[in-house]
Amino acid sequence: MRDQNANILLRPRRLRSGPSIRSMVRETRLHADDLIMPLFVEPGSNVKRPITLMPGQYRYSIDMLPAAVDALLEVGVRSVILFGIPERKDSTGSDSLHDDGIVQKALRTLRSSHPDLYLITDVCLCEYTDHGHCGVLRNGVVINDETLRLLQKQAVSHADSGADMVAPSGMMDGMTAALRSSLDTEGHTGVSIMSYSVKYASAYYGPFREAADSSPQQGNRRAYQMDPPNRREALREARLDVAEGADIIMVKPALAYLDIVRMVRDDVACPVACYNVSGEYSMIKAAAAAGMIDEQAVMMETLVSMKRAGADLILTYFAEDAARLLKQGAP
Ligand SMILES: [Zn+2]
Repeated sequence: MRDQNANILLRPRRLRSGPSIRSMVRETRLHADDLIMPLFVEPGSNVKRPITLMPGQYRYSIDMLPAAVDALLEVGVRSVILFGIPERKDSTGSDSLHDDGIVQKALRTLRSSHPDLYLITDVCLCEYTDHGHCGVLRNGVVINDETLRLLQKQAVSHADSGADMVAPSGMMDGMTAALRSSLDTEGHTGVSIMSYSVKYASAYYGPFREAADSSPQQGNRRAYQMDPPNRREALREARLDVAEGADIIMVKPALAYLDIVRMVRDDVACPVACYNVSGEYSMIKAAAAAGMIDEQAVMMETLVSMKRAGADLILTYFAEDAARLLKQGAP
């Protein structure tokens, strides 16, 4: 006897009925090439210091970086973004500007140990200033144009030391144009810029500030980073950066801002990156440690949600773990 519902014409479950067909019709895929691994570098030797608030992440001394990179390349992650913790901090972050700065030395080491590794550097002052703000501070205000001159110096010095791409993260006005112009003047026309174009003043950055010793000593960053409720303003920032010569536009954080990732993706023609930030990472780690969720499954679902939202690239502390799973055949 025929089922009374035999007249259902469209049965979407047919295309979900087994692993082969699910894989054939899968719309979004994660690939190791999508993933960029952040690495923290500190002075000293033989240091691999666990970052307490980010389980599984470390601060490395320069001599320990090549081994960390070997492990990444082994699973197919081919690019890293470097963050430096300097020997000493001062009011203008001067330790970040010269060729013997921690990031510059790390660049030269990795450039010679791994010539094909794609080297990105974070360009900002907050890890290097004693007040923890992203620029020159006067009467509690970050002075935009003076800061640009320091960022230009820092970026050129990174390029001189072997960076393939610089990533300005300070949300200063005119930041991308300033960097493009000084890089070009100094002969670095081939060095790309990935701009933290749409960076919100987010509480999700909490654990990173332990990792990079970069908490503002006074005040907060709301006078230069974007206000979380704003959406239209993200378009304005993204379009400005495209006009100023950015090669890649970044949205940060990622998870609570996937609507912004999608909107920017639909508006610009250049690649879009998102930063799966420390708070997003640590929440998954903490929930998994408490037995509340399956860490690997939630990690992969979270990362693919970012691609589905339109991100071409994801900066993530999960890069190595996710790439390992992908290598083992995870979808
Ligand atoms: Zn900063």
